[in-house]
Amino acid sequence: HAPATMTGDEIVALSRQHTIFEWSAQGAVDPIPVDRAKGVYFWTPEGKRFLDFNSQLMCVNIGHGDPRVVMAIQEQAAKLPYANPFMATEVRARLGAKLAAITPGDIDCFFFTNGGAEANENAIKAARWYTGRHKILARYRSYHGATAGTITLTGDPRRWAAEPGIPGVVHVPDPYHGIQRGWDPVDDALARLEEVIQLEGAHTIAGFIIEPVTGTNGILVPPDGYLQGVRALCDKYGILLIADEVMSGFGRTGEWFAVDHWGVVPDILTMAKGLTSAYVPLGAVGLRRKVADHFRDKVFAGGLTYNSHPLACAAALATIAVYEEDGLVARARQMGEVMAGLLADLAARHVSVGAVRSIGLFGIAELIRNRQTREPMAPFNGTSPEMAALSRFFRHEGLYTFVRWNTFFANPPLCITDAELREGFEIIDRGLAAADAAVA
Ligand code: PLP
Repeated sequence: HAPATMTGDEIVALSRQHTIFEWSAQGAVDPIPVDRAKGVYFWTPEGKRFLDFNSQLMCVNIGHGDPRVVMAIQEQAAKLPYANPFMATEVRARLGAKLAAITPGDIDCFFFTNGGAEANENAIKAARWYTGRHKILARYRSYHGATAGTITLTGDPRRWAAEPGIPGVVHVPDPYHGIQRGWDPVDDALARLEEVIQLEGAHTIAGFIIEPVTGTNGILVPPDGYLQGVRALCDKYGILLIADEVMSGFGRTGEWFAVDHWGVVPDILTMAKGLTSAYVPLGAVGLRRKVADHFRDKVFAGGLTYNSHPLACAAALATIAVYEEDGLVARARQMGEVMAGLLADLAARHVSVGAVRSIGLFGIAELIRNRQTREPMAPFNGTSPEMAALSRFFRHEGLYTFVRWNTFFANPPLCITDAELREGFEIIDRGLAAADAAVA
């Protein structure tokens, strides 16, 4: 590869001067300058190595720099980098067919977008057209994107700055209520949902959008029966179930899609991130046959200049081939068992660890500062000196992962080896010593 021509400090300074970093006051950002990446590692221009324990933004599922995907992108770029979305290309045709084969049930027709938010925007439009109803239910502990519609669907505090948002979105509570209150029994959670449906009027509700395993808001793995119960309620009231698998899809949980763990087939399934492992931006909306059939004689009133972008379709086909050739979905399941053991070990040995959760290579730890009250180490939507110190420690030690509120994540690329996984947990183990000292 070509050597960097700017230093890390120069890259950061010029980026800060002329570009906007997301979700931040610009005076406070402190980005890591990144020059190159391979496998589970990335490097700064000065050669400092980071173990990528978050697959960047939970998206580089196959790992960095896979030559099979790079070559597919190069070949497509040389042949046909772009054709407008009214055209049909071979990569578009083959990707639609491939996704029909790996997505659950009779989901077999796809609308391609640039990313997750646009996929969710088009999913709610499709649900509204299909049902002739206007409301969309979403949950509070969720993130669905940052466009006008999807930030309204989003339940977490990132929604607040965009309010009032689009009309017709109603939030319902999750079965999880934080480290102190824990989980509702499945029957209670479903009864609460059904009550909201009745109070809102089922005949006004087009869809219910959920992350089947909630990502950024806590790797919330639903108790068995919850998703099946949600599916049954949606069927009972004629509401479309929209599964947002932007983060949980493509092997992250140890199945192609998270819903596969519970045998639930949503009416609409959205994806992005792992679809191309982020080598090129791409999202998609998958429709069950009955929903797709609606658009045989009704207009699908959505479009994007970059819909079915050939470069992105080629990247997705090559990425899916890597999952298959390397058995990465099964690997996520196997390494997920190793990671669950390592997380349990942290919980057993560190008083600051109040809970750990994982499914496949989708994991999190919640820290607490009091063993009796289980007060979180940082408040809802906030931080604390201890969490900030943990974040600084990880960065200093060359471990890259998300630290959010009272939690930190473990979402490495699915190609991670046993030794690389243990390397990350060894750093975490040392980092938690300071957090333990703060526990009452
Ligand atoms: N949905 C979920 C569950 C996500 O995690 C994300 C991104 O983090 C999105 C939607 C939005 O995707 P994008 O950032 O590609 O628009």
